Amino acid sequence: MKVTFFDAKPYDRLYFEPMLADAGIDVKFCEYRLSPETAALAAGSEAVCIFVNDDAGAETIDALARAGVKLIALRCSGYNNVDFDAAEGRVRVVRVPAYSPAAVAEYAAGLMLATNRKIPRAYARVRSGNFSINGFLGFDLEGRTAGVVGTGRIGKKFITICRGFGMKIAAYDAYPDPSLDAEYMPLEELERRADVISLHCPLTDETRHMINTAAIERMKDGVILINTSRGGLIDTTALLDGLKSKKIGGAGLDVYEEEEAYFYEDLSNEVITDEELLQLLAMPNVILSSHQAFFTEDAMRAIAETTVGSLLAFRDGRELENELRFERGGELAFAGN
Ligand code: NAD
Repeated sequence: MKVTFFDAKPYDRLYFEPMLADAGIDVKFCEYRLSPETAALAAGSEAVCIFVNDDAGAETIDALARAGVKLIALRCSGYNNVDFDAAEGRVRVVRVPAYSPAAVAEYAAGLMLATNRKIPRAYARVRSGNFSINGFLGFDLEGRTAGVVGTGRIGKKFITICRGFGMKIAAYDAYPDPSLDAEYMPLEELERRADVISLHCPLTDETRHMINTAAIERMKDGVILINTSRGGLIDTTALLDGLKSKKIGGAGLDVYEEEEAYFYEDLSNEVITDEELLQLLAMPNVILSSHQAFFTEDAMRAIAETTVGSLLAFRDGRELENELRFERGGELAFAGN
């Protein structure tokens, strides 16, 4: 079996190369992202392995199918970059549904602390010999309310961490988990009550721009917004307005709506032309990182193990436990998770 691995970075090779070799799977690592233009590089491979910012839209899937590809293995849990209508009946899709929810939840907690207490600015200031603490006033998390949007694997871990800080929890999920000991409420109520709001639901047509102007208006003055999920959950223009009006006290963002053009690349010698990204980068109360919440040794090992397991199951004609099943015009139905 042969797989073409798109958007391959040194850390991907570190974990995948030995496991693929042990499994007897031939691999071609490409630094390019998957797109309609690069899909032909997969000719001769039965499978491609892709990440969050690869483009598996309709045009790309047409090109993959023409190249003889039968399987897309997402080495991530999100699947908003795949056109399932185009894939139906032609290319099967697997993902890594859970690799280390703790990695992402811990990072979200890190962003919450760093945004509230201005830790990156304090670090930079002290290193340049400025020992003033003006502008670094935060608030105690203990006794405050964390609004958790999406109480799946990562949301649940985040709730446990917040409870450790002595925070109260306001939860919202389109499919509440009755076994979870947390107070569920409508999203609008959560927006009114929370001091910190952290997003942990997938990006779908329904959730795109769930944080918009109306939602921000409902929030408490000085609310801290944390997003480690997908950039499209937040309307960036509304976020910038909320930051400018000081309604939003701070934002800790690991994802950005238009991140595809920038994230995971060293563009330090380039001129950034995305005006909204430039505004976010210029704000003292915004912390932006490059979609790295998943990036721990434990998560990388688990991602590689699950993905190689799926490739082997496909090669051997066994059931694909982590397959994303899809129906034209219907709801996504998950197999085995
Ligand atoms: P999960 O499937 O375990 O949980 C998602 C939760 O969202 C579920 O409880 C589901 O019911 C809920 N949900 C679905 N539709 C909703 C809606 N319309 N409104 C509110 N809630 C809704 O997923 P997870 O493993 O907890 O991951 C959550 C998200 O985190 C993923 O979708 C992915 O986008 C993101 N993620 C980011 C990184 C990163 O590195 N930044 C890494 C992994 C995952």
